[in-house]
Parts: sequence; structure tokens; C-alpha cells
Amino acid sequence: MSNLELLPINIGGEWRLGGGDESATLYPATGEVVGRLRAPSLADVQEAIEKADHAFRTSGWAQKKPHERAAVLHRVAQLIRERAEPLAQLQRLDNGKPISETRALVASAAGTFQFFAAACETMEETITPSRGDFMTMSVYEPMGVVAAITPWNSPIASEAQKLAPALAAGNAVVVKPAEATPLLALELAKICEEAGVPKGIVSVLPGRGSVIGDAITKHPLVKRVSFTGGTSTGKHIARIAADKMMPVSLELGGKSATMVLEDADLDHAVNGVLYGIFSSSGESCIAGSRLFVARKLYGDFMERLTAKAAALRVGDPADERTQMGPLITAKHRESIESYVQLGLSEGGRLRTGGHRPEGALYERGYYYRPTILEGVTNNDQICQQEIFGPVLVAMPFDDEEALLEQANDSVYALAAGIWTRDYKAAWRIGRAVQAGTVWINTYKQFSISTPFGGWRDSGLGREKGRLGIQQYMEQKSMYWGLNEHPLAWAN
Ligand code: NAP
Repeated sequence: MSNLELLPINIGGEWRLGGGDESATLYPATGEVVGRLRAPSLADVQEAIEKADHAFRTSGWAQKKPHERAAVLHRVAQLIRERAEPLAQLQRLDNGKPISETRALVASAAGTFQFFAAACETMEETITPSRGDFMTMSVYEPMGVVAAITPWNSPIASEAQKLAPALAAGNAVVVKPAEATPLLALELAKICEEAGVPKGIVSVLPGRGSVIGDAITKHPLVKRVSFTGGTSTGKHIARIAADKMMPVSLELGGKSATMVLEDADLDHAVNGVLYGIFSSSGESCIAGSRLFVARKLYGDFMERLTAKAAALRVGDPADERTQMGPLITAKHRESIESYVQLGLSEGGRLRTGGHRPEGALYERGYYYRPTILEGVTNNDQICQQEIFGPVLVAMPFDDEEALLEQANDSVYALAAGIWTRDYKAAWRIGRAVQAGTVWINTYKQFSISTPFGGWRDSGLGREKGRLGIQQYMEQKSMYWGLNEHPLAWAN
């Protein structure tokens, strides 16, 4: 290990070294160590959750008026913006995404805090139509300690997406970032503290998911888990939640269909399909990884797509022009290589890619070429399993019925894309395709104001949107008696 100093973590508001194993985060472009820390021990987890509970009950955060909490969240957004460049550079080092992308993720994290600040101070509770001599109300209360468990692919954005609404709701939050990418969550916790979030309201416990994440999920004081990650981990968390009768939101995997109809604008469709699968090196839950192209268009379309995919700039994440950086770890690249072998063994043919790039630049990093496979059918494993890398499977389709049958034939149902000039077809297919998000003539675009989540194995619950705050609150109905006389029944 390098001689970089060990980084303190945030245990119940106290910055100190964890009592667990030492781990290092590596720059995926070179394998160099960019940060070292000690994971929390199980005793640290216990302490952080107890302190979070104490802070929830005593710090006054939950009792602040919504506009007062909003002011703090606005300051968080402001501090993220002031530190945008160092944060973007840190995220580049932490997970190897190109700098152009990490800048956008930092901007989106600031926007998330700004949005939930506004949602916090404008959130309304309702007086409902009464059916008697009483007033009826629906109100919301914070839950207490909630947990945010995040993956490595877009750290600051995923963490902001959970932290901002959970804090807006008045909760204390324990964040468990991925072991591979702990640095941005630690920075966010520092920013929250500086902005005026009381000590103990935010903890960051980086460490192995199966140990630390599991202990957090099982803890009786943790009242809700918001999880983003793989489907098998999500199901494991859901089983624990069932035993505790604890609400969860699960943002899980995907194998999203992108559909190019015969009348699509080809320039738009080619660029959109490329961006949908190869941006973020395909390490994106919403990657458009299954491509269906109208048979008449298939030959021409694939030629244009292949030529552009082969010309994508794979390289140094620090270079502003880079379109694809390295993959997160050497192990993850091996997993992608074995998926490509699986596709080939199922009869797939490579249109482009299928190997590591060559040259001095690529020697130390975990790079992989953008890869397109064809000659497979939607039933093949390569079309059914999530690869989470820069691998696209392409198939022709004959008519709308066959298209929808295949697009919907997946355990996943996270997102879908439709490219067509026919507005009626866009509407029909957009309504019939089973997915949490549908993009028409665009792909992988987001607004924090619009709910996000998956169907089936892609998840449970929704994040984002104005109602995002209420996901971190308990609803309560109140009946306020206004009768002048005692209840007649007991007379
Ligand atoms: P993962 O292995 O499920 O890990 C996600 C997080 O869960 C990490 O912090 C991990 O910790 C933790 N974890 C692992 N085992 C756990 C357990 N038993 N209890 C509690 N926490 C546990 O997923 P990943 O490989 O990091 O991420 C890739 C997956 O995330 C893909 O399937 C992708 O589609 C999905 N994803 C979904 C969305 C969405 O919004 N739908 C967004 C991004 C990614 P460690 O890593 O430290 O072990």
C-alpha cells in the first residue's frame, strides 16, 4: 500500500479512523492508490447508529421549520458548487469516469440539494374532506435514522439523491458508500457539517457491503433503507426488511431495450444509441444494452453505428475529449470479458470491440473497447443478463408486435428508448413497453423533478420528484374532534 495518510471516516459525527480492516481506493486508469482508510468495525456501526438516533432526538434538526432546513440544504448546494472542480477531479480519481462526466455529476448533486430544499419548504400537508364532526388531516413525520446504501458507478449523484430528501424530511442518515468509491460520500458529509447540519445527523460508514451494509440494514434503529445496486443484493435487503417490517426503496439492475423504428431520424438515433450504451463505459443501470432495429434499416444502421462506436475516444479520464474511461476494477473487466465469451459461445458475432485497447496509455488501466455483438436472439443469456459494461447486443425486428414481445421479455424493466418520427407509434410503444422510464427520441436524460425507479427485478419504489421527500417520512392521519356534545354511543 502507498504511504498516503489514512483518511478518517464519520462515525456518528466524529471524524476518526475506523476500527476495521484497511482498504484502498484505486484510480482505475492507472491502478494507483488515491485514498486509504480503515473501514468501521461492527462496534463503530453500532456507535454511529446510536449517535444518529440520539442526534435525531436531541439536535433539533427534525424540529426545525421546513424553511430553516431548506436554508441549510441550499448552503450544501452552494458549497458543492464552490468546490465543483476539486470534487469532479476527486470523483474522476475515485471511479475513473471522464472528467466531463464527473463535472456533470457534481452539478447534478448540487441541483439535487437545491431541488429538495425547495421541495422541503413548499411541501404541503392536507386537510381532507371530513365525514363527521371532526377535522381530518394527513400529515408526515420524519422516520428517525435512515440508511443510504450506494454503488460505485456515480457516487456523488447517487448519494445526493438519497441524502438530500432524507435530510429534507428531518431524518438522521447513515450513508454506506461502495467500498471501491468512498471518497465523495466523505466529502459530502464534510460539506453537510459546514453547511450547518448538526453533528451526528450524517454518518459515513465505508466498508464491505456484506458486513457493514448488512449490519446497518439489520439494525433495529434503522427505520428505512434506500438502496441502489445489484438485484441480488437488493433482494437480500428486501428479505431483511420483511422481517423488520421496514420500508425500502430498491434501485436495481437493468437490461434496457432501445428500439429504432424504420422511420427514425438516423443521425439522432445513432448518436442516441451510442450515448445510451457507451457513455460511462456502459457502467450504468439504465444503459441501453439491448438494441432492436427495424429489419429494413438494420444493415445501414449497423454500419453507421459500428463505424462510430469504433471511433469513440477511449482513454485518459483527465482528458476533456475522452468519451470512455476505464472500467472500475480489473475484476469487473474480467467479468465483462467472460460475458463477451458467453455471447460468442451462444453464436454471437463481433461487429466491433471484444478486446482491450492496445498501447502504452492502456497498459495499467482497466480499459475495454466499445463492443457490439449481433447474431444472437433475445432468449440468449447475453441478451438476458446485465453486463454493466460497454457491450451492446443488436437484433433486427420485423413488426411492432414482435418488437414489444422481445423488449418486454426480460426480468428487468428499468428503462427503454424509442427512436421514430411517427408520434402515434411512439405513444403506442411508449405506453406498452414495461419500464420505469421511457425516452422518446432521446436517451439517458434526467430531471430531478421526475420520479425514477424500476419495475420487476429492476426495483421497488421511486426516488426523485417532489414526493421524494415523503418516501423518507411516515404518513399520519389525524382526526380532531369538534363536537359540542359527548359521543352519543356511550349515553
Ligand atoms: P452491489 O454489489 O449490489 O453493491 C451496491 C452497494 O451495496 C455497495 O455499497 C455494496 O457494498 C453494498 N452491499 C453489498 N452487499 C450488501 C449487503 N449484503 N447488505 C447491504 N449492502 C450491501 O452493486 P454494485 O456492483 O456496486 O453496482 C452495480 C449494480 O448497481 C448494477 O446492477 C446496476 O444496475 C445497479 N445500479 C442501479 C441503479 C438504479 O438506479 N437502478 C443505479 C446505479 C447502479 P460494497 O460494494 O462495499 O461491497
